[in-house]
Amino acid sequence: MAALRPSALVQSIGEAASIKQNNLVYALQADGADIITLSLGEAFFDVPVPSFEELTSAAHHYSHTRGVPLLRQKLAKYHEDCSGVPVDADRQIMVTAGSKSAVFMTLAAVLEPGDEVIIPEPLWVSYPDQVRLCRGVPVALPWHAGIEDIAARITPRTRAVIVNNPHNPTGRRLTDAELRSLHALAEEHGLLLVADEVYSEFTPEGAPFVSAAAFDPELRHTVICNSMSKNFGISGWRVGYVIAHERLVRELAKLQQHLVTCAPTILCQYLAENFEQVLAHTRPQIRAVVERRNRVAAAFAARGVRSMPGDSTFYLFPSLAPSRLGSAEFAEVLLRRHRVSAVAGISYGESCDGFLRVSVGAEPEDRLLRGVTAICDLIDETAVRAGEAA
Ligand code: PMP
Repeated sequence: MAALRPSALVQSIGEAASIKQNNLVYALQADGADIITLSLGEAFFDVPVPSFEELTSAAHHYSHTRGVPLLRQKLAKYHEDCSGVPVDADRQIMVTAGSKSAVFMTLAAVLEPGDEVIIPEPLWVSYPDQVRLCRGVPVALPWHAGIEDIAARITPRTRAVIVNNPHNPTGRRLTDAELRSLHALAEEHGLLLVADEVYSEFTPEGAPFVSAAAFDPELRHTVICNSMSKNFGISGWRVGYVIAHERLVRELAKLQQHLVTCAPTILCQYLAENFEQVLAHTRPQIRAVVERRNRVAAAFAARGVRSMPGDSTFYLFPSLAPSRLGSAEFAEVLLRRHRVSAVAGISYGESCDGFLRVSVGAEPEDRLLRGVTAICDLIDETAVRAGEAA
């Protein structure tokens, strides 16, 4: 079977931790187990069911590599509304098969072997492996470091910084001051700022999202990766997009041509024609899920469990202190004994072993609160007692 030998590069890549955890859940559910699932990276919405009958036959075929023109126009307007910055729908946007591929193609388009990419922890599980797949070197920053600590990590090999805003798993939004200092660093050191904004709709009432592009209107060093997956509640459709300088979009288009040709045309066409209606349908549901997130945070706090600061998305990152279990063992016991699934904090970087990622997107509130109780009880049960070594 020598022909099946994987490359050293691919062998160095792990499975995506959250997907692995959810595969475990699916296997248990298939055996009839009732699992409170706090590990899914999406919020389930009621979405309008498309009727494709009205679409022209062009919808069944490849589209322009940069995406169905009407969808690009809608996205340009949508982006302008949330950044205040106009975008050229012909030159500065490419529709992609989810934002995951947008981040990957961006890295592939700019990294030379050995180039470093700074990623603050908690980090989204795919970033470091995507950097490695592009023969780059991920440089993680521990969670307690601030944006100001990024400067100290910049070397002559640093090529990019990736930020996720609003943030999975903490729910934190970058402040304007933090965004400004990131842009100043990017400008000063010639770095690309990759802003993954896939949770841009998930902010609380009265706290509108500000895109990183607002601080770099000419897109001199900023790439925005966004997606319909979370914001429109349609992760399975695999429709995302990237906004960047036209010079970079040209290179990204070459990669996309060779990888997938274009995003799924029929879904893009449907989205283009129903853009405002789909958004109007999901926005109230998004608001409700963010409110639920913040009620769950309060339920943890009421039991003395602190989460990393944040008020957006549908995730929380509660601390496991004073449990003596590492996060992987904690998540395993939680699933095996209490039938509650959450993702171990260690998956989000070495500095995050004392945390657990909890998603409130896929369960009703009573089950969420049962999950909170199980987590808090397990923390208490496994707590290091006074006089006991940790
Ligand atoms: N970025 C972040 C931070 C995410 O959490 C996810 C999905 N979990 C993605 C990107 C990928 O989303 P998409 O479905 O658009 O590829």
